[in-house]
Amino acid sequence: MGNFVSQTQLHTPNQDDALTDAYARRLTYLRLSITDVCNFRCDYCLPNGYDKKRPTDELSVDEIATLVRGFAELGTKKVRLTGGEPSLRRDLPAIIDTVANTNGIDKVCISTNGYRLGKQVQDWLEAGLSQINTSIDSFDPDVFAQITGHDILPKLLGDIDDVLADGRAVIKINAILKAQHANATLSQALDYVRHRPVSFRFIEFMQTTDNSDLFFREHIRSQTLIDQLLDMGWQALPRRHTDGPAITYTHSDYAGTIGIIAPYAPTFCESCNRVRVNAQGKLHMCLFDSVNFDLREALQTNDTTALKQQLHTLIPAKPEHHFLHDDDSGLMHNLSLVGG
Ligand code: SAM
Ligand code: SF4
Repeated sequence: MGNFVSQTQLHTPNQDDALTDAYARRLTYLRLSITDVCNFRCDYCLPNGYDKKRPTDELSVDEIATLVRGFAELGTKKVRLTGGEPSLRRDLPAIIDTVANTNGIDKVCISTNGYRLGKQVQDWLEAGLSQINTSIDSFDPDVFAQITGHDILPKLLGDIDDVLADGRAVIKINAILKAQHANATLSQALDYVRHRPVSFRFIEFMQTTDNSDLFFREHIRSQTLIDQLLDMGWQALPRRHTDGPAITYTHSDYAGTIGIIAPYAPTFCESCNRVRVNAQGKLHMCLFDSVNFDLREALQTNDTTALKQQLHTLIPAKPEHHFLHDDDSGLMHNLSLVGG
C-alpha cells in the first residue's frame, strides 16, 4: 500500500477527534438547556410568562450524563446549564454534580434569573458549580419589576453579595441593552463594579420572532456605551482565543469590569466555540438557525459511540454566522426555548 491514504481516511474523522466545524472553529463549549419553563415574564423574552403545561419529557440526569460524556470525549471543556429557568428543576444539584464529575469538563456554569439564588446556591456550590451568570436588567427596583414581572431586586442584590463573599464561584451579571434605560443602567453599573470584583456585561437586544415590536423600539448598538467608556478612560482588554463573546473593558479605579456582547457586530460569529442542546435533546448549531437535530435516541440508549458519530456527522453543517442583520431569527421565537 505504500503511502496510499484513501479519500475516506482523509475525510472521516476518528471517533474521538475534537469537534471542529467547516470554518476551523473548535467547539469546546456546550450550552445545555435543562428546561424551557420559566417563572419570569421578561418583556423581551416571555412577556406573558410560560403559558404551557410543564413538559414531561425533559432530559433525565442519566441522559444528561451520556450527553456530556459524549461531548467531553470530543473536546468539550465547559458546560453552561441554562433554560428557561434551570433552578426550577428539582434535580439541579444532581445535574451539576453529574456534569462537574464528567472527565474532561473543567467548568460548569449556570445562567439563572436569580429568583432562587439565596435559597439554593449552597447546594449548587457543593455540587461543583464554578460560575453563575445572573441578570440585572435595571438597578431601579421599579424598572426591574416592570421588565421581569418580579419585584425582587433588593433581595437579588443581597444574594449576589453573599455569593461574592463566599468566593467559591465566579459571578457575572448580564443586562440587556435597551435604548430607554441604557445611560441610567451604565452609570449605575459603574457604581456597582467600583468596589465589587464583578464582570457586568451588556448584551445587545436580539430580535426573535416573538419580540419584533419591542426590538424595533428598544434596540440600540453597543457603540454608544463603548464611546462613553472610552471617554471615561476605560480600556478594552486584548482578546484571547479562549475568551467568550464579551469584549471586556477595565479601569484602574474599579474592582470590576464592564463587558459588551455585540451579536450584531460583523465579526461576532468568527470566534464561536459553542453549540446548544435543548431540554428535549435537540442539537442547535446556532441560536438562530432554522433546523435542529434530535440526539435523543443515543441518549436514551446510553450509546456514547452513536452520539459521537452523530455529532461528527452534523457539526460540519454549523452555519458560518447567524442572519440577525437580515431580521432573520430562524426558529427562535424567544430565548427561553434554547437558552441564551
Ligand atoms: N432564565 C435565565 C436567565 O434569565 O438568565 C436563563 C435563560 S435566559 C434566556 C439567558 C440570557 O438571555 C439572559 O441574560 C437574558 O437576559 C438573555 N436574553 C433573553 N432574551 C434576549 C434577547 N432577545 N436579546 C438578548 N438577550 C436576551
Ligand atoms: Fe425567563 Fe430568562 Fe427569559 Fe427572563 S430571560 S423570561 S428569566 S428565560
